[in-house]
Amino acid sequence: MGMTKRVLIIGNGIIGLSSALSALRRGYDVTVLDRNAEHIENCSFGNSGMVVPSHFAPLAQPGVISQGLRWMRDPESPFYVQPRLSWDLMKWGMRFYMATHKDQVTAGSAFLKEMHLASRELYCQWQDEGIDCSLATRGLLMLCKSDHGLEEEAELAHRARELGIPASVLDSQETAALDPNITMTVRGSVYYPKDCHLNPGQLIASLRSKIDSLGGKFVYGEHVVGWDERSGSLRAVRTSKGEFQADEFVLSTGVWSDGMSRPLGLKIPMQPGKGYSLTLPDPVELPKVCSILVESKVAVTPIGSSLRFGGTMQLGELNESIDPRRLSGILKSIPQYMPKFKSSHFEGIEPWVGLRPVSPDGLPYIGRPKGLRNLVVATGHAMMGVSLGPITGELVGQILSGEPTSIDLEHASVDRFRD
Ligand SMILES: Cc1cc2nc3c(=O)[nH]c(=O)nc-3n(C[C@H](O)[C@H](O)[C@H](O)COP(=O)(O)OP(=O)(O)OC[C@H]3O[C@@H](n4cnc5c(N)ncnc54)[C@H](O)[C@@H]3O)c2cc1C
Repeated sequence: MGMTKRVLIIGNGIIGLSSALSALRRGYDVTVLDRNAEHIENCSFGNSGMVVPSHFAPLAQPGVISQGLRWMRDPESPFYVQPRLSWDLMKWGMRFYMATHKDQVTAGSAFLKEMHLASRELYCQWQDEGIDCSLATRGLLMLCKSDHGLEEEAELAHRARELGIPASVLDSQETAALDPNITMTVRGSVYYPKDCHLNPGQLIASLRSKIDSLGGKFVYGEHVVGWDERSGSLRAVRTSKGEFQADEFVLSTGVWSDGMSRPLGLKIPMQPGKGYSLTLPDPVELPKVCSILVESKVAVTPIGSSLRFGGTMQLGELNESIDPRRLSGILKSIPQYMPKFKSSHFEGIEPWVGLRPVSPDGLPYIGRPKGLRNLVVATGHAMMGVSLGPITGELVGQILSGEPTSIDLEHASVDRFRD
């Protein structure tokens, strides 16, 4: 018998950890490496923790560009593109534009739906196996203030049902009855019973301890700075502390994966999609069901006895600086839907920042790139990394061991933007 194959997972976000778990279950010798120290949080910690089969429509939807352009004129709006002259950003924008064609969107939707539902099932299994993330399978409410918002959401609900995702359109009374814990002033909502929410910080901690108990190793505070590649095969990564050898490599470094993989000739375009969250430890009201404030794109998630508000999508800035205008946009929108909340409740609450890895077509990159035998790429999950994490990890495990993948990965091809 040969030696156990060594797998190096680069990046300890939700994608890297899910991949590590599935590789360990297939008998590999697994190490997870991250440049951060153990306590430093990445995009996978302070997010909204929603598992969302309802989000079957890729980011690149018809109509999204005109909406985005309107939003860009408003400094408090949920969407913003940093106006700077960047060739990468322009190319990303062109590809985004091309991906908004209806046929591509339809094909991408079927793929995303399959991924979300498979992931949801894995979360339920994980919960049963003791990977505790306080999974709540109570559904999601898309809360609408305006007639227009409700009409658009009802149209999406119709498409969801066509794809086999249950969804019901509710008026304001039905919405109130669904979650009596919270006072809402809305026109109506769409309820997606299959959606769930969880505690992302607890999820990461539980995954780490599961990986540890299965014999997986962690290396923190070591930065990957280069690759040692010979004739289509990686021997090692060069790091800030030396080098790290392995037989298989998994690149799951979120928004940084684009720059990191360029020296290998890969093209996996991504823009950082900056978002914030604010968590009230002791909210005036605590909903049971998570929700999205549709017109202002704010996500509201009960996490234990606290309540988290997440939002904004600021494209183009690879840094973690905080724009107070975007935060105030979030704060102003909350009382419009949930009148018991006031901006003053958020005084002294430290905002959390995360950078979503956003691909031009809103679909992830999962697979082996052409011309490299022992690299698997798993990234580009944009606003859905938590939701798609478990199935992505499972697919990475299948790819590593040469099994046929349980979901066709054509739409997630790592080579789709190579010219
Ligand atoms: C406000 C907000 C709300 C969100 N809400 C949701 C939600 O409700 N549901 C959902 O599904 N998703 C949500 N998301 C998106 C989700 O958080 C991301 O898609 C997900 O966390 C991405 O995970 P990742 O593992 O790919 O990347 P990350 O979590 O960013 O991890 C990448 C890791 O790679 C490491 N790394 C980078 N470069 C190197 C290097 N050179 N060497 C070593 N290590 C390196 C980094 O240190 C980092 O730890 C939200 C995001 C934001 C910002």
